[in-house]
Amino acid sequence: MRSSSPCLNRTNQQITGAKNLGRSLFACHNDFTAMTTNVGASKTRVIFWGVRGSIPTPGSGTVRYGGNTSCVEVRAEGEIIVLDAGSGIRLLGQSLQREFGSDPIRLAILISHTHWDHIQGLPFFLPAYSGKNQLRVFGYDGTRTRLGEILAGQMETPFFPVTMAELPGKIQIEELKDMDFEIGKLRVCSKFLNHPGVCAGYCIHTPAGSVVYMPDNEPFEQLDVQLRNRGVENTARTFKSPSEERTDLIQFLRGTDLLILDAQYTDEEYQRHIGWGHGSISSVVSLAADADAKRLVLFHHDPNHDDEMVDKIVDEARMQIAQLGKSIAVEGAREGSELILSRDRLTGTGAKHTRRQRQALPE
Ligand SMILES: [Zn+2]
Ligand SMILES: [Zn+2]
Repeated sequence: MRSSSPCLNRTNQQITGAKNLGRSLFACHNDFTAMTTNVGASKTRVIFWGVRGSIPTPGSGTVRYGGNTSCVEVRAEGEIIVLDAGSGIRLLGQSLQREFGSDPIRLAILISHTHWDHIQGLPFFLPAYSGKNQLRVFGYDGTRTRLGEILAGQMETPFFPVTMAELPGKIQIEELKDMDFEIGKLRVCSKFLNHPGVCAGYCIHTPAGSVVYMPDNEPFEQLDVQLRNRGVENTARTFKSPSEERTDLIQFLRGTDLLILDAQYTDEEYQRHIGWGHGSISSVVSLAADADAKRLVLFHHDPNHDDEMVDKIVDEARMQIAQLGKSIAVEGAREGSELILSRDRLTGTGAKHTRRQRQALPE
């Protein structure tokens, strides 16, 4: 079991500068609003390319929130950091290709864990098919298999016609050992989460504020309570008590400017999915409230939830936040939407990124 380090040392400027942003934004924006995609050097841009959990869910019921699995792009300090490589990364690849043209693309992909919904888009990531591009892929080893073997494994025959070794792009798989590292000028902290297998959440510190990405997580204390009520042994993979784990997690999340959290289940659904490794509305609200997050984005939507259901979950989360007397802005992550963080303000989001035309890739 790896130990986790609390994510500390944010500057006062970052915390203070964002202090009122969630409140004013919550008052002004109940949903993403259109704005420019051009950001200055002091700003951080966050784009949601895939927001769904478990399996892609195309169809008329998921048009507004989107059906692609986990992929979030963060741009700051000249770096492009991609959080997970679910099916949404295919759209990101096409967008990058259009943006960069013949110029080289250099980026880092942070893999939270290697469940299929977080890596299945990698074989369809267009930049990997050009020798001019440099892709660094970071993540932690699996419980039995190394990260590189897992990522390459899904591209082997009979699963895919092109192996990872055959991809022309310069792809470097870097297994993380530390819980605190840097990508360019950006400091990144990580924390192991309560999810089957090895799963990490990441906190990216940018000059415009911190972005935490925790796509799959079941709260330790809720799991413990529920299992105890049923007389079932706590099987959480931890040497710490649930309360210690929660304290660590709150410390990790403290004062986060943008918190992207697994909110897969309603509270009622969670009762039927205890131990599946995902959060519920009230547990996610409680985490965000106790950590004094500035803005909460509900993520990893359940494949059985259509747009109307996600709307209800967002409404319920907002109501629970209000009942706690907090003014944290809450959104449901929506494919193609964008958030801009700046030192002075955290603005609404949402230039809807149009879907690119289909590229010729192996099926
Ligand atoms: Zn997942
Ligand atoms: Zn998972």
